[in-house]
Amino acid sequence: MIRDNETHQLLLSTVRAFVRDVLRPHEKEVEENNEVPESVVAQMRDLGLFGLTIPEEYGGLGLTMEEEAEVCFELGRTSPAFRSLIGTNNGIGSQGILIDGTEEQKSFYLPKLATGEYLSSFCLTEPDAGSDAGSLKTIAERDGDDYLISGTKRFITNAPYADIFTVMARTDRDAPGAKGISAFIVERKSDGVTIGKPGHKMGQKGSLTADVIFDKVRVPAKQLIGGVENVGFKTAMKVLDKGRLHMAAFAAGVSDRMLEDTLLYAIERKQFGRPIASFELIQGMLADSKAELYAAKSMVLDAARKRDEGQRISTEASCAKMFSTEACGRIADRCVQIYGGAGYVSDYDIERFYRDVRLFRIYEGTTQIQQLVIAKNMIREVS
Ligand SMILES: Cc1cc2nc3c(=O)[nH]c(=O)nc-3n(C[C@H](O)[C@H](O)[C@H](O)COP(=O)(O)OP(=O)(O)OC[C@H]3O[C@@H](n4cnc5c(N)ncnc54)[C@H](O)[C@@H]3O)c2cc1C
Repeated sequence: MIRDNETHQLLLSTVRAFVRDVLRPHEKEVEENNEVPESVVAQMRDLGLFGLTIPEEYGGLGLTMEEEAEVCFELGRTSPAFRSLIGTNNGIGSQGILIDGTEEQKSFYLPKLATGEYLSSFCLTEPDAGSDAGSLKTIAERDGDDYLISGTKRFITNAPYADIFTVMARTDRDAPGAKGISAFIVERKSDGVTIGKPGHKMGQKGSLTADVIFDKVRVPAKQLIGGVENVGFKTAMKVLDKGRLHMAAFAAGVSDRMLEDTLLYAIERKQFGRPIASFELIQGMLADSKAELYAAKSMVLDAARKRDEGQRISTEASCAKMFSTEACGRIADRCVQIYGGAGYVSDYDIERFYRDVRLFRIYEGTTQIQQLVIAKNMIREVS
């Protein structure tokens, strides 16, 4: 749902200009230094990019899902590291509080996340619990008015910068699988929180991911999201439904950028006395990519509109995430092929994007997990 088209178009053109004039010129520097410069972060804060999805009453822009998807199409036209920095505050790091938090939790944390004063991370994955997140072992034991949280979380995006963590931990050891899990807001400054050394990633340099270790971290009971025990896994899944649509939209934005760069290269590069874009085998790759990009954007917008109407979109979100990220991988591969040898060396941006986009098919649920979600929902609907 687009609430006011004029305001929305203004936002899109502002983001488009920011991507073109500020973010793109910093892409190589971010790759080399593995860091987004503070001057850029400050501009992101000024533009309100940390609070795109947080409601206006809590200081954000309160974008609808359709509006957010269109902003992602624009933000995708540069290195994913930039989105990653604002991604947790807008998505997995804030949505648990927004969707299921108490009013006290919302009014304390959301304004800080909306301005970028606080950064947030989402702690679900563990060394032995990835796709099977319901088997997580982190424990939250009640101790008077507090909980004591102990466990290790793995691959946590933005952990080195985060001020707060949404932590999924087991409150009922006897309940099977996902049933005994609760969600907590844990402050980084709490005693017993340790952030591991950031991992060395294949791509997305500038976006940091690390282990977060909780050693008997004392967390007041008022930090239990929604104040209700053993519903944390449901909160996590609601967060991921929305996160998957966000990722699908973003992957489509990156596909757009890669394809645009590649088309320009194909028109310029000459072989056999002609631009390579005039060869039908190259045109086939361009056309297949364009059609897949169009399909990905269409799926994202359809699912986003359904979510804005209040419909359940678990199946659609998984379809969109699976299709858009897999298409993005195919498009990246074709683009490298069209660049030829130039696509394999770092002089051109496509070499970096090829590595960057590989992650889209893995995090926020692998492609195989999306397939399982889709199929299980299909079977449940008929039975
Ligand atoms: C850079 C990065 C950032 C991340 N950020 C976060 C974050 O901020 N917060 C967070 O909580 N997590 C985060 N993750 C974790 C991410 O969500 C997991 O890596 C992902 O869910 C897969 O889990 P896994 O790595 O343990 O793989 P595994 O679960 O071990 O899967 C390995 C392979 O087995 C397949 N597989 C597993 N189960 C099945 C099945 N039932 N049927 C068929 N195939 C199956 C998978 O699809 C995959 O191909 C991040 C990961 C990375 C790499």
